[in-house]
Amino acid sequence: MSDPVDSPAPRRKPKAEVTRIGGRRVSPSTMMMGFGYDPQLSEGALKPPIFHTSTFAFESAAAGKRYFEVLTGRRAYEGHGDAEGLVYSRFNGPNQEILEDRLSIWDEAEDALVFSSGMTAISVMLLALCSAGDVIVHSGPLYAASEGFIARVLSRFGIAYVDFPAGADSAELTAVVERAKALAASQGGRVAMIYLESPGNPTNALVDVEAVRGVRDALLDPLTTPIAIDNTFLGPVFQHPLRHGADIAVYSLTKYVGGHSDLVAGSLAGAKRWLAPVRALRNTMGGICDANTAWMLLRSLETVELRMRRAADNATRVCEFLRDHPKVAGIGFLGLLPPGRQKDIYDRHCEGPGSTFSLFLTGGEAEVFRFLDALQIAKLAVSLGGTETLASHPASMTHLSVPDERRVLLGITDNLVRVSIGIEDPEDLIADFDQALAAV
Ligand SMILES: *Cc1c(COP(=O)(O)O)cnc(C)c1O
Repeated sequence: MSDPVDSPAPRRKPKAEVTRIGGRRVSPSTMMMGFGYDPQLSEGALKPPIFHTSTFAFESAAAGKRYFEVLTGRRAYEGHGDAEGLVYSRFNGPNQEILEDRLSIWDEAEDALVFSSGMTAISVMLLALCSAGDVIVHSGPLYAASEGFIARVLSRFGIAYVDFPAGADSAELTAVVERAKALAASQGGRVAMIYLESPGNPTNALVDVEAVRGVRDALLDPLTTPIAIDNTFLGPVFQHPLRHGADIAVYSLTKYVGGHSDLVAGSLAGAKRWLAPVRALRNTMGGICDANTAWMLLRSLETVELRMRRAADNATRVCEFLRDHPKVAGIGFLGLLPPGRQKDIYDRHCEGPGSTFSLFLTGGEAEVFRFLDALQIAKLAVSLGGTETLASHPASMTHLSVPDERRVLLGITDNLVRVSIGIEDPEDLIADFDQALAAV
């Protein structure tokens, strides 16, 4: 080893982070440019290098022992993240750690975890926090794969569920939770989680998170039954569910956070008490995103607010045009909600409408297909939240596997088009929708 005075043992993240300046709290958008990364640790590189390595060299045997003590839960580590040193890339890496630090900022969360997809985040979380005999209470509709994982996979391990419609009020929620408690008691388990998705996919139905929190606190143990919420449609910019009483915010980073339709990833944000068991299962199973994807997401986070605000402004312009068009039967856009319970939830929980909405055409599948095939700027694809505008037909695509009866119940009709508006010039988008509607 060289002289320890000349080259002190490398310490990770030694530089104090700037989180306040001139008496004000630095906003998340500003912190996305540098938080969690010190260029002096990487040859002065302004941007973090991509760490392509499967394992990490310990400075000493004692250090390796310390890292493993924390990793295996023998010793608590009180610092940020999970450990004072990196061990192996199935557990974590520098790019993923920076990403987790920056993601936790948006939700003002104690900790965050990244995964190789949104569904990996959801699956590992549910497996970590639910056991045989337990019951999950969830809102509906859910992203089809989330619903399928709960109903068809977890059921094989003795985990049951009870669901409720997104707009439910406190009285309905109370009845559902009472039913779930009775079911859990009958099968020797407990209500292990309340799992929400708001806005719901694909209808944009909103859940009253504050009401859910009130009912959870009244009927269940807040220290053992967390409220998790899939915040993919509005987060991390337009909705902050932890402020409204949720415990874990869930993301498909594939959508608005990634934002360029060029990667697949997911994340969770929340308190360590909820995320520690999920981290432990991720360490065992794998499922953390790779270093390259983490690096891409760091780049994406620098513009997430810019992109989401532009897309939401574009969507508002496009929906104002579509609303009055004679071939449009209705529109489900959060920026144009009529007065009522959904609008009340929106006003309390959301800070912007996002850019994904439902468009109901006059007619059915034939008219929708003519419309979709006539679009010239908007692309025909599932997914959402990218820089480009996408349109799809849920009834015959993303929700084809949902039984007809349930599809109708969820409002997924044959004349429904799901649109995700991007950051193009809004006048070009309006011209495109105008000419495609003329072809219907
Ligand atoms: C896309 C999506 C998911 C799944 O995310 P992946 O990254 O595709 O695994 C979960 N929830 C919602 C609301 C989504 O839109």
